[in-house]
Amino acid sequence: MSRDPRYDILFEPVKIGPVIARNRFYQVPHCTGIGWTQPETLARLRGIKAEGGWAVVATEETEIHPSADCEPFHEGRLWDDRDIPAMALMADAVHEHGALAAIEIMHHGGSVANWGTRIAPIAPSHRPIIYNYPVQARAMDKEDIRNLRGWHRDAAVRSKKAGFDIVYVYATHDLSIAQQFLERRKNDRTDEYGGSLENRARLLRELIEDTKEAVGDKCAVAVRFCADELIGEAGLTHDGEARDVIAMLAELPDLWDVNISNWPNDSQTSRFAKEGFQEAYTSFVKSLTTKPVVGVGRFTSPDTMVSQIKRGVLDFIGAARPSIADPFLPKKIEEGRIDDIRECIGCNMCVSSDYTSTNLRCTQNPTMGEEWRRGWHPEIIAPKKSEGSVLVVGAGPAGLEAALSAARRGFEVHLAEASDELGGRVTRESKLPGLSEWARVRDWRVGQLERMANVSIYRDSKLEAGHVLQFGARHVAIATGSFWRRDGVGRDSGFPIFDGATVYTPDDIMAGRDPEAGPIIIWDDDHYYMGGVLAEVSRYAGAEVVLVTTAAAVSAWTANTLEALPIARRMAKLGVEILPYMSVAGFAGDSVQLNSVLTGEKFERPASALVTVTARLPVDALYEDLRDRWQAAGIASVTRIGDCWAPSTIQQAVYSGHKWARELDEEPEVLIPRELPMIESGRLKVMT
Ligand code: ADP
Ligand code: SF4
Repeated sequence: MSRDPRYDILFEPVKIGPVIARNRFYQVPHCTGIGWTQPETLARLRGIKAEGGWAVVATEETEIHPSADCEPFHEGRLWDDRDIPAMALMADAVHEHGALAAIEIMHHGGSVANWGTRIAPIAPSHRPIIYNYPVQARAMDKEDIRNLRGWHRDAAVRSKKAGFDIVYVYATHDLSIAQQFLERRKNDRTDEYGGSLENRARLLRELIEDTKEAVGDKCAVAVRFCADELIGEAGLTHDGEARDVIAMLAELPDLWDVNISNWPNDSQTSRFAKEGFQEAYTSFVKSLTTKPVVGVGRFTSPDTMVSQIKRGVLDFIGAARPSIADPFLPKKIEEGRIDDIRECIGCNMCVSSDYTSTNLRCTQNPTMGEEWRRGWHPEIIAPKKSEGSVLVVGAGPAGLEAALSAARRGFEVHLAEASDELGGRVTRESKLPGLSEWARVRDWRVGQLERMANVSIYRDSKLEAGHVLQFGARHVAIATGSFWRRDGVGRDSGFPIFDGATVYTPDDIMAGRDPEAGPIIIWDDDHYYMGGVLAEVSRYAGAEVVLVTTAAAVSAWTANTLEALPIARRMAKLGVEILPYMSVAGFAGDSVQLNSVLTGEKFERPASALVTVTARLPVDALYEDLRDRWQAAGIASVTRIGDCWAPSTIQQAVYSGHKWARELDEEPEVLIPRELPMIESGRLKVMT
């Protein structure tokens, strides 16, 4: 296949100061949860993006000094020369595939606590730090500013030594000191760095000038800038001070990388924002500068990308999440394989890795974060080592991924699904308000499977043990999923507490068996998205809804996916009453018994229906029926995968299906590969 000429414009080279990007695909800086902790892991991950066709591949934010210590988050580090080799590893991996390597050096100023290094944070003025720690940043004096400029310059020089082609000055996401100086609400200085906008922009200007002077001969200098903070006049706005700063510094950097601040605004999930959602805030930038402009908006459609370029909104298609979901997105457009693009679903499981300081993961791309550790490549999978066919029972995310990956290995694959629809929980959940893009998990896999000659799909085919035993498959994956419990057992209660016709589970609601009238009590003992989404369903149907949770807020775990605030806002807008620090202890048909987690007091609330979002149980009856029988039938393996093995996230189900297929006919993994800590003393004692 060859490229559709409509997309030629995306493959034009673009000059960025002294360097040239081979096309318009730009992987903007993004966190990985890996950072300085595992350089090999990170280098391989970024190298694969370069291999996938991105013209520029950037690091995550990279700390320039111990007074910008992001712990417990794992970001990049260039504190001193000892950090150069690790960063060089990544730059080399990116260069190996002809891409430019960019580095986002930064000082966090008053956003981090320096919890690891125990250095008092610094900021334009005395303020509590932005992340929620009981720590204040101290106001910088002139010497501090001079030092900061020196650290930034040193880090730029180290970046160049490490081989980077583009060096950033960072001023967005409410994280960087340059932005903090710009913000009136954080800067009440009376010297030449405070007061007028020109004064508040002085540090940013100086950092750009310093960086250009230090490395501008070889490296392009990019500014990552906040086009709007979405807090109106209290902050930087696209038609106010953000615009004025860009106008002031328009030609100074070699590239503008613009977005909306802070990170939750920049990386909104598909529940709250659709492709291209930043355009209204960033499109003005190109009218003020002749320098190339990169912007983001969870772009996955080449038509949208072309439109952004042709309408003069952007010069580069910036991407973090789309490049995680499909590192080969540019290559696929280049090769005319549009249907092969694995589109990001906007769930932010990737973000949760950064928030939990664990290796990057992705719902759509199970190889993400496993490139070095397990040697997984998103586009390459080892051919099968044995003959015989594979049977996958259940076509949810685990079954679909297992079938696809086994088929890519060359196995003859049979996929049996009990219902007439493929997709399992993804199909059900994508019909919930705001979650329609989640269907991409199903659609991409079904699209791939339907084009493969070695795959047979059987709908309306509920398999029982006898069918499986007679089927003749060499390997069997049981991907039969899970169901939500009705009895109330979960995190809060270890014992059944409910029984009754007006107790509903998420499965009931998704199957259209809604409570007829309110007040509806949603007992959210799960703390992820489901409770909040079901509250929306019932409010749209007009019922009075009360959401009860032992957590401090609705959908508390979504703090890890940047959705906690938007969900709370939506609940407030819809008039959903939230009862935090409360558990449900009983349901009498017309009232619920509530327990205060704080005081132990018991309350009653009228309720005509109870929706329990507590826990799930595996659908594993088929496996149990097969347990002692499959070996005698000549089957080499029967394995439970996905939610049937252990109910978890959709991301984990996809991962589980992928891992199963990768490991067919392979030696079992004994030790999880990992990058071992360096022992400074040079002593390495092998324990026997
Ligand atoms: P997972 O997240 O692990 O992929 P899901 O619950 O999304 O799990 O999907 C499980 C799928 O398995 C559902 O589509 C369900 O209809 C199907 N299924 C369950 N039992 C059987 C069975 N005995 N035969 C065929 N399909 C089954
Ligand atoms: Fe997109 Fe979700 Fe993957 Fe993140 S985890 S890249 S949001 S599909």
